[in-house]
Amino acid sequence: MKKLAILGATGSIGASTLSVCRANPDLYQITLLAAASSVDKMFLLCQEFSPLYVSMSDKNSRVLLAERLKQAALPCQLLKDQTELLQLLGSNEVDSVMAAIVGGAGLTTTLAAVNAGKEIFLANKEALVMSGALFIDAVIKSGAKLWPVDSEHNAIYQALSPNLQNNIGACDLHGQGVAKILLTGSGGPFLEKKLSDFATITAAQAVKHPNWSMGQKISIDSATMMNKGLEYIEARWLFNASREQLQVVIHPQSVIHSMVQYKDGSVIAQMGNPDMRIPIAHVMGGGQRIDSGAATLDFFSGVNFNFSEPDFGRYPCLKLAIDACYQGQQATTSLNAANEVAVDAFLNQQIKFTQISQLVERVLTNTDTQPINSIEHLLEIDSESKALARQIIKRDLLC
Ligand code: NAD
Ligand code: MG
Repeated sequence: MKKLAILGATGSIGASTLSVCRANPDLYQITLLAAASSVDKMFLLCQEFSPLYVSMSDKNSRVLLAERLKQAALPCQLLKDQTELLQLLGSNEVDSVMAAIVGGAGLTTTLAAVNAGKEIFLANKEALVMSGALFIDAVIKSGAKLWPVDSEHNAIYQALSPNLQNNIGACDLHGQGVAKILLTGSGGPFLEKKLSDFATITAAQAVKHPNWSMGQKISIDSATMMNKGLEYIEARWLFNASREQLQVVIHPQSVIHSMVQYKDGSVIAQMGNPDMRIPIAHVMGGGQRIDSGAATLDFFSGVNFNFSEPDFGRYPCLKLAIDACYQGQQATTSLNAANEVAVDAFLNQQIKFTQISQLVERVLTNTDTQPINSIEHLLEIDSESKALARQIIKRDLLC
């Protein structure tokens, strides 16, 4: 049995991961469950899965969980702080890590697992978007095995030849006959909405994705298509793809999860119902087919395939992300930081939906382009960009 650590255990990907664990009880022993502050959820998970270790990043939640574990006489050891968490991730008590913390908050833990050469199931796309070349260099240096969990990247991975699969981060797409990676996206809930109504979109409308059930942040990112922009940057790094080799395709049904077009004209697509347990089962099974618990696709119940080009007027965040991808690491770090602040402000009704892209653009305009050479420098840019975004909201955008 492999020893699994789940970072972001109480979230949407955490829940899907644990569901795959339930369906395959002999594959993994759960060493660690980590989350931020959902004490009730974490307590229930401790009762069910008896992890050896538990971690809560929020101090008050740690105290509350400690009491609950003590009262119930559960033997899980609660980690004291982030240092203990990082040590555990680097130790031989962990073989595989599901990196599913949301946002840049997941960078340090994911990188600790990468540096220790662990098997990484990567859901936390923001970590890779922020750290790009540094992340990939660390993977190559440590020999960590990196599995893409994001449904599009998992689909692309499944459509690649073993030579490319075994060289994640340093693939030679052209040499292996790949003409293009076609990154599909549904267009989110506002694909058909009148542009003049965008300014009045509410958070409740924006979190309602037509096909996927996901956490709040990625749901808003899907509505603005910043999610596809982050995924574009993620694909650039995972598959060492050039601008000519990457194309975003709108496919509203979310049945095809992405495609690879080869130079002979063949296109290989991966399909399935929109259920994250499918890519999660693929990576947790090490590429073998195991039970995911997801319903199988029924081709006779009205499955349709429509495709179109994205309209950047409707999705300015997508354009900002693609441009940032070619401006360098500083730009993608700032883009991600500004977007995190913008989404949070939108969810808290401080800014309008249309101001998300405006805020990201203003932060990017004020970002210089000096290269980032270390994680410390990257974290500095991250906090500077977040501070600038908050300042702009306070000064100009607060509604
Ligand atoms: P979510 O909001 O449902 O869950 C986030 C988890 O992260 C929670 O367990 C939370 O407690 C934890 N967390 C937040 N901050 C933390 C911190 N500082 N330390 C420790 N834990 C912390 O989010 P989600 O939808 O599960 O997404 C997780 C990641 O996976 C994101 O990066 C997202 O882009 C990516 N992803 C999600 C989906 C999906 O279907 N939900 C699909 C593809 C990729
Ligand atoms: Mg995705």
